[in-house]
Amino acid sequence: MTSTTHAIARWRDCMNSLPHLYTLVTVPVVGHLRDTIPDTIYCVTCGRPVHPWRNARLVIDVPFITEIFKSTDGTWFITDRLKNQLETLGARGYVTQEIPFEFSDDYYRWASIRNDRTQRQQPLYYLAITGLCDGPWVSHRRAGQCPTCGQAMAIVDDMETLITALLDDAPPPTRLVYPDTWHQEDLFYLSEPGPPLITERVAQLIVPHRPSPERVRPVHSTKAQHGHALTYADPHTIELYPARWVDRD
Ligand SMILES: [Zn+2]
Repeated sequence: MTSTTHAIARWRDCMNSLPHLYTLVTVPVVGHLRDTIPDTIYCVTCGRPVHPWRNARLVIDVPFITEIFKSTDGTWFITDRLKNQLETLGARGYVTQEIPFEFSDDYYRWASIRNDRTQRQQPLYYLAITGLCDGPWVSHRRAGQCPTCGQAMAIVDDMETLITALLDDAPPPTRLVYPDTWHQEDLFYLSEPGPPLITERVAQLIVPHRPSPERVRPVHSTKAQHGHALTYADPHTIELYPARWVDRD
């Protein structure tokens, strides 16, 4: 074998050992933050997060049964059960911090409507996803670097384009990752703004194994990618969408 065919064979082996990927499009939004330190973690120029919260308090507004969920500002949280499972797995690309939490009046109202008498006592954890990879942009156009935080910025769509995207029922474009930018992270963002990606083994943890497929449904529209619809609408649904590896041109 020549060195070139060796290199190609190695590359094929490498591609074959890469895990399946999913975009973690939607998880339930179950509460809001208060007493945050610092006041904001979002870049004043481009709006993307620039560092994790150092401290915050979670107010839970709706009952939930998933192991991963968000607050209205888009911050991620996991249960102690999922935290332990991720640690057992040796998953990479995140840090956690225990978060104090409380229940609002809305929580008790929803719990009463849903006849839900469970109230969590186990610890909850703030999940900061630290993995960052790159790939070709599929939904946005690049607009250079943010002058304030240095992250890649996207050209902001005009209102007509945004509304068209919100009304579009076509599946979202598959997000793509360059393998040479990946360093075994199981949770990571891409340079293109959008939801994080997760590996197959993490997807298997967060997708409930109980036989209720309606709780894990494929994404049928681009709404979740464009609308940032962080509402309390559906506290039980996790939406995954396949992502994949792609070689550089
Ligand atoms: Zn910025």
